[in-house]
Amino acid sequence: MFHRAAAGLLLAGLMSSTALARDVVVHAGALLDGVSPTPLKQVSILIHDDRVTGVQPGFVSPAGAEVVDLSSETVMPGFIDCHVHISARLPSKANATEYALTHNDIDRAFDAAVFTRAMLQQGFTSARDVGGGDETVSVRDAIADGKIPGPRLWVSLEPLGPTAGHGDAKSGLDQGLEHPGWANGIVDTPEQARIRVREHKRRGANLIKMMPSGGIASTGDDPRQQLMTDEEMKTVVDTAHSLGMKVAAHIYPAGAIEAAVRAGVDSVEHGSFATADTFALMKAHGTYLVPTLTVFETFYVAARDQPELLTPGTAPKELANDQLPKRNLPLAIKSGVKIALGSDIGEGDHAQEFTLMIANGMAPADALFAGTRNAADLIGASDRIGSVQPGRFADLVAVKGDPLSDPSQFEKVDFVMKGGTVYRRNGAPTAAGAGE
Ligand SMILES: [Zn+2]
Repeated sequence: MFHRAAAGLLLAGLMSSTALARDVVVHAGALLDGVSPTPLKQVSILIHDDRVTGVQPGFVSPAGAEVVDLSSETVMPGFIDCHVHISARLPSKANATEYALTHNDIDRAFDAAVFTRAMLQQGFTSARDVGGGDETVSVRDAIADGKIPGPRLWVSLEPLGPTAGHGDAKSGLDQGLEHPGWANGIVDTPEQARIRVREHKRRGANLIKMMPSGGIASTGDDPRQQLMTDEEMKTVVDTAHSLGMKVAAHIYPAGAIEAAVRAGVDSVEHGSFATADTFALMKAHGTYLVPTLTVFETFYVAARDQPELLTPGTAPKELANDQLPKRNLPLAIKSGVKIALGSDIGEGDHAQEFTLMIANGMAPADALFAGTRNAADLIGASDRIGSVQPGRFADLVAVKGDPLSDPSQFEKVDFVMKGGTVYRRNGAPTAAGAGE
């Protein structure tokens, strides 16, 4: 009985792998492989099904392999955004409070399907959602099942944080309003923190996000205050790590960052008020910084030009704080802290983060590492994504120029392949990329 079932499974496995078996060779004019800072010239990337099997010098065409001609382009690993909110609207497109009160999880899943499809077209073949609801799990799984096009997703579900903190959706609203999801992240004791982490795991989270400090785009809290206790943070980190999940922490003030780093967080998101000492401590602990310059630029412009679209009372906080992170980036770079790319947007241009990091002092090669190799390391998936090497997913992006000498290329992606499937070619979505 057992043997017959096993043989059946084996046969089914062989048949499906035969049906899917596909060899592709990509002729790359230049390859920035996510390992070396300098390009390899004129190489062939060998792909079997969804994985890279080798990189060879010169343009080779093995028998039976489909040739993808990118011989006049620069090929890179698929980009990775470590800080997205897949259903988040741009502030210039929707009033945040009105949107929150007129859209449920199902509405948000449909918005997320549109924004993740666009993300993939921009070259982002992987992304980490650090704050959403059950719709993030559903969209992640729908993409993984091939039902809709989008990046591979790692999701945190609702950020954990205190009552009246940055993650408390009820802050600033009529206190009589309720939504089941709003309470999912509220943590006011270490015991609650332990339970919330376990609940998130049960509901499908890949990682945990927490909000140790106040925020900017939220009513009633102060980005300069630490709002979670050291003990709460430590409980979140220890429980998450024991369950194999990493912890991303939204934090602004130096003291709160240092407390979170000592508690063992894997990444500091934003980190706007970090000092040289803060970065030195992060470097010593191997903690990543995810600067999220795109969201600050986007919200600064909205606060200046369309304050009525922001959450009530938040425009002054945006104007006072949003220019600090880019001014602080050179200090972070100088400190040698590890940096991963994160835009903190859903709708919109995620590759803008490359442009902003480079415009504010990062070398283009390092920006590419931030959005590929480093991001993969932070996610904990370097064995699958973030570089073009044997065994990794065939996640490739190509541009027509040289992104190291012309950084605007990061925002002009010509070709996108994810897991061996081409989603964009000649600057336009393929049928797979359009979701057909
Ligand atoms: Zn965020």
